[in-house]
Amino acid sequence: QGQTCHAYCTYCFRWAQFVGLDALKFASREADTLTRYLGAHPEVTDVLFTGGDPLVMKTAVLRRYVEPLLQPGLEHVQTIRLGTKAPAYWPYRFVTDRDADDLLRLFEQVVRAGKHLAVMAHFSHPAELSTPVAEAALRRIIDTGAVVRCQAPLIRHVNDDADAWAAMWTKQVRLGAVPYYLFVERDTGPKHYFEVPLARALDIYQDAYRRVSGLGRTVRGPSMSATPGKVLVDGVAEVAGEKVFVLKMVQGRDPAWAGRTFFARYDEQAAWLDDLRPAFGRDAFFFEPGLRQMKASARALPVLQGGTPLDPTAPEPPGPEAAQV
Ligand code: SF4
Repeated sequence: QGQTCHAYCTYCFRWAQFVGLDALKFASREADTLTRYLGAHPEVTDVLFTGGDPLVMKTAVLRRYVEPLLQPGLEHVQTIRLGTKAPAYWPYRFVTDRDADDLLRLFEQVVRAGKHLAVMAHFSHPAELSTPVAEAALRRIIDTGAVVRCQAPLIRHVNDDADAWAAMWTKQVRLGAVPYYLFVERDTGPKHYFEVPLARALDIYQDAYRRVSGLGRTVRGPSMSATPGKVLVDGVAEVAGEKVFVLKMVQGRDPAWAGRTFFARYDEQAAWLDDLRPAFGRDAFFFEPGLRQMKASARALPVLQGGTPLDPTAPEPPGPEAAQV
């Protein structure tokens, strides 16, 4: 389907998908292509529908993509994720839209088929959770058996404030949702206006994290969806007399990289992985030789659609086990 979204966030890195520049669009029109691919790849366990926003689609259209995933032969597909801003920006999608009830019946169908349905909801600010209709939307989604996981980028002038994150995570838990990720604003678009340096992002994250109960501490961040993988800024430490960022690769282009901790020289201005230099006088981060090799051999990445291999503006690396639609 063509890609669009309920919102037009000015910091969005996916703008090219919405503005009619066909050469810049990625679109997967063929549900058949998806199911054929999945049938041939029993190692794929997760399918992520993203965009734009897949819930811009009418339920009847979304159903064409989702229902085939429930059929016999695709039991290895265990999780279906829907990345969406709808619960925040257009909660009526789940409450009063003409096909709202149909959408919820589709969610129930997925759950009844024994799959995990994860609604990856983009909430940027507690104000988005303050309306009765937003609360009703979450309640109705959760009642289907789906799990709502909440994530958002940290954006200067919007939510660069620990109070906002602590309030948001607390409210999400109260409403039955799961705080999931605080992302670092991508190194694309008008980033000079929106970016928050990593050191400050970490302060905001840690400050908010300390203020929520254990149930809210399911959240991870600050996390960069960078070219080599998803990299978490896990802390600042002094090691062997050097002040460093402690970084963790939570997902890697090479699955063997996942879970590796590594270190970068502390830099108060750095706002993205590319701004960082390895600590302890090293020439390169551990992943750089492998990444160079991947670029050289232009090895296909484990995504069906949604990004050019090794394109830093591509959607977050879904992990080796996920297909992205
Ligand atoms: S909700 Fe997400 S995809 Fe839609 S405009 Fe905002 S950042 Fe972009």
